[in-house]
Amino acid sequence: MIGYLSSLFQNKCPRCRKGELFVTQNPYDLKNNLKMHERCAVCGQRTEIEVGFYYGTGYVSYGLSVVFSILTIAAWWIFIGFSVDDDRIFYWLAINAVLLIVLQPFFMRLSRSLWLGIFVKYDPKWKEHKPADSERIVEEHMKNW
Ligand SMILES: [Zn+2]
Repeated sequence: MIGYLSSLFQNKCPRCRKGELFVTQNPYDLKNNLKMHERCAVCGQRTEIEVGFYYGTGYVSYGLSVVFSILTIAAWWIFIGFSVDDDRIFYWLAINAVLLIVLQPFFMRLSRSLWLGIFVKYDPKWKEHKPADSERIVEEHMKNW
């Protein structure tokens, strides 16, 4: 579990948990923050396992935003509270919206890591096995999304 979470938050390859998924390590390098290596440099796992694979991260990203908002509203409720007599809930709304925008580059990469990790499982013996190549790869359509 710790290994999974650590590789997830560091955007490591889900198969070997060693190779980097992204070309740049800085999520706020906005021109390059979603550029991924075609294959994991350590174990050779493809990072895009079918055409339009990362389309599905829209759902993951949405879920992450909802979870994040639930956490911030819970923290606001505990530390600041809500009342019908003032506008505190609107302050939470504004602060939460700003945080969601500022953290978006981080969430987008985390979504990709999570999404790939659903389909590519950790293989403790990755050195002995070759990565399974998906049959759903059409070279001429890759990166058209
Ligand atoms: Zn790898």
